[in-house]
Amino acid sequence: MGVIKDILRTMDYGPSPESTEHVGVWLEEHKSGFGHFINGAFTKPGDLFDVFNPARGERIARVSQGSAKDIDAAVAAARKAQPKWAALSGFERSKHIYALARHVQKRERFLSVLETIDNGKPIRESRDIDIPLVARHFYHHAGWASLIESELPGTKPVGVCGQIIPWNFPLLMLAWKIAPALAAGNTIVLKPAEFTPLTALAFAAICVETGLPPGVVNIVTGDGATGAALVAHAGVDKIAFTGSTEVGRAIRKATAGTGKKLSLELGGKSPFIVFEDADLDSAVEGVVDAIWFNQGQVCCAGSRLLVAEGAADALYAKLRARMANLTIGDPLDKSTDVGAIVAPVQLERIRRLMRQGEEEGLEFFRANDSLPDRGCFYPPTLVTGVDPASVLAREEIFGPVLVATTFRTPDEAVALANNTRYGLAASVWTENVNRALEVAARIKAGVVWINSTNMFDAAAGFGGYRESGFGREGGREGLSEYRIADEPKGKPNSSRPLRLNASPGVGPARNVVDEGPDRTAKLYVGGKQARPDSGYSYAVLDPAGREVGLAGLGNRKDIRNAVEAAAKASSWGAATAHNRAQVLYYVAENLAARADEFTRRLSAMTGASARAAKAEVDASIRRAFVYAGYADKFDGAVHATRSRFVTLAMNEPWGVMGILCPDEAPLLAFVSLVMPAIAMGNCVVAVPSASYPLSATDFYSVLDTSDVPAGVVNIVTGEANVLAKTLAEHDGVDAVWYVGDIEGAAQVEALSAGNLKATWTSAATTDWAKAEGREFLRRATQVKNIWTPYGE
Ligand code: ADP
Repeated sequence: MGVIKDILRTMDYGPSPESTEHVGVWLEEHKSGFGHFINGAFTKPGDLFDVFNPARGERIARVSQGSAKDIDAAVAAARKAQPKWAALSGFERSKHIYALARHVQKRERFLSVLETIDNGKPIRESRDIDIPLVARHFYHHAGWASLIESELPGTKPVGVCGQIIPWNFPLLMLAWKIAPALAAGNTIVLKPAEFTPLTALAFAAICVETGLPPGVVNIVTGDGATGAALVAHAGVDKIAFTGSTEVGRAIRKATAGTGKKLSLELGGKSPFIVFEDADLDSAVEGVVDAIWFNQGQVCCAGSRLLVAEGAADALYAKLRARMANLTIGDPLDKSTDVGAIVAPVQLERIRRLMRQGEEEGLEFFRANDSLPDRGCFYPPTLVTGVDPASVLAREEIFGPVLVATTFRTPDEAVALANNTRYGLAASVWTENVNRALEVAARIKAGVVWINSTNMFDAAAGFGGYRESGFGREGGREGLSEYRIADEPKGKPNSSRPLRLNASPGVGPARNVVDEGPDRTAKLYVGGKQARPDSGYSYAVLDPAGREVGLAGLGNRKDIRNAVEAAAKASSWGAATAHNRAQVLYYVAENLAARADEFTRRLSAMTGASARAAKAEVDASIRRAFVYAGYADKFDGAVHATRSRFVTLAMNEPWGVMGILCPDEAPLLAFVSLVMPAIAMGNCVVAVPSASYPLSATDFYSVLDTSDVPAGVVNIVTGEANVLAKTLAEHDGVDAVWYVGDIEGAAQVEALSAGNLKATWTSAATTDWAKAEGREFLRRATQVKNIWTPYGE
């Protein structure tokens, strides 16, 4: 009896390790090494590298290092398989994906054990979270396969997708990538992370079992060099990457100008905000899930605790008590809460950052220093009193370390939450629903969990704002990343001769210092006409070379001023959609009232016949009306995710957008690009056609008379690619749309890597008469998913 009493008092668990028998047999069978999975079969093992169990420091397998040749073979197999896969009926594709889901489910135990051995995560997590979510992803997307034609009309598969995933959720990240790509009719070359390739190889075996056609899924193992070869391969149409911001940036540069579609899910430093009225006991459990789930090796980990000053002491005390109860150790033990760090280099990275924190004199609380004497373990750690400027508050630690700071007011909480270059997720704890939703709206992050954390579901989009990347994974939002417009491509725009430099006597040599009041069209910045900083203007010529006017020659400084003006006008994004619609209708009406004048100007400038010019003006007026109509109709969604949760998908404006317009259809293209952007609440710096800028400069007076608030539309004329450079580099610009030539598009994409702004580029001729619709609104917004629980 005494024993039971003791057990009840201490509530200690005895060891309860999960059996590794089946996984052991499978690993033994592949003792001589794993090959790649290409065209439906495993290749002979090649140049091998070791894979370790981080909890024991033991080698568990040897896996092939993929070469450029292997990538070549995999891409060729995927290319060959793609048309047939896409040509299957949605129903047939659906059955294949459904079979994958079923087989994953049948092997849940095997896959969870393998994942835990390979990655070090507690079996409780791989068994209850990772693998069930993998099956859920395949089930969800099996449905999409048969719905995609009707649900995403006017689109087609992208083609061959290169997918690169990290080691923190190896099989789950595979599912997030492969399931939507397959549903959308693409074929795949996937590269798992070098630390954790084993469940991907087990999945390859499942693809064989279910009879997935050869070449539809190919898996090439290897390290960053293998990933880089996949990114660089000319036969790949899209890259989907999850990993560090640093590598994401390199991939952005490597794909610039190649025409590859790109989605990036990168790092984070997500805030976990606790208000004074929060239920502190629930918040403590939330913290455990936010930062000690998967040893904190989670891109959306709630790693910055922001707590109301009045609640801080109580919360810290509860947290310390809770930390003392966390079980750290053998990940295969079913009662383990915190397992192993994935690899010695990661452990060393955590230690290095913590040493830096120690040098700053920060206060540490470690849960439990009695760690297993082998393997990669780091104790759950709480660091309090952390200055927002501290390295620990800024850098993604990717380990079980929580840094805490206090705040006094909700405004301060929001400011601290947004004081990061990332924007992946946030968690908000308060019993006041009004406050929760207000804070959720003001936080710049792709996912906000209210009174909850780390909630995921296949039906909701997941992805970041700012340097956490762009594109979403999951649900309808994620699916559009794997489709492109089903329309004939225009002819590539050849490098555009800069008309301002082109003709003899025109261009900088002829540019004259602008002397006083004359017929030079000025720039339009912050609601006012402004002289260009350079003081220069350039001649606008008709096709016969006759001068039809002068335009300001904008430079970097003018762009910077315009960006500043646009940032100041950000309350436009918070105006009601009705309000914005009214302003846009007013713009459309005022344009209509001046149709004759705009027609004459177009005709004179471009040499278009009076009829053609009138048609362009009429189309521009219609388009302006269309986007005025759309302003309050591009709804978000409520996703069907988990029970007792409302998951709101809100379409939010990017903020400040740079828009570079082509020479084609100088008025219609300008209206087609600027109107959807402002309809969605963005403030814009627009660079009109360099050759034919005067329709856009005439537009100032339309804006002035239409109640468009100052700074919402700024217009800078000049050489498109020179101005595009400044816009693409500018950290205050959140997204850039560029329509122009190939060099310009490549430049915008490469330079956007700085703050990882989203870009939408085209270097082909466009049928502007048709360039309209929801895709423009989708590209003018980013989706924030807000998870709100209900019930007691
Ligand atoms: P983490 O910090 O999570 O390890 P990484 O960004 O280093 O993230 O790795 C994520 C994935 O990207 C891994 O599969 C890795 O092999 C791959 N990778 C690393 N460097 C490159 C690169 N230069 N190009 C493409 N893939 C890369």
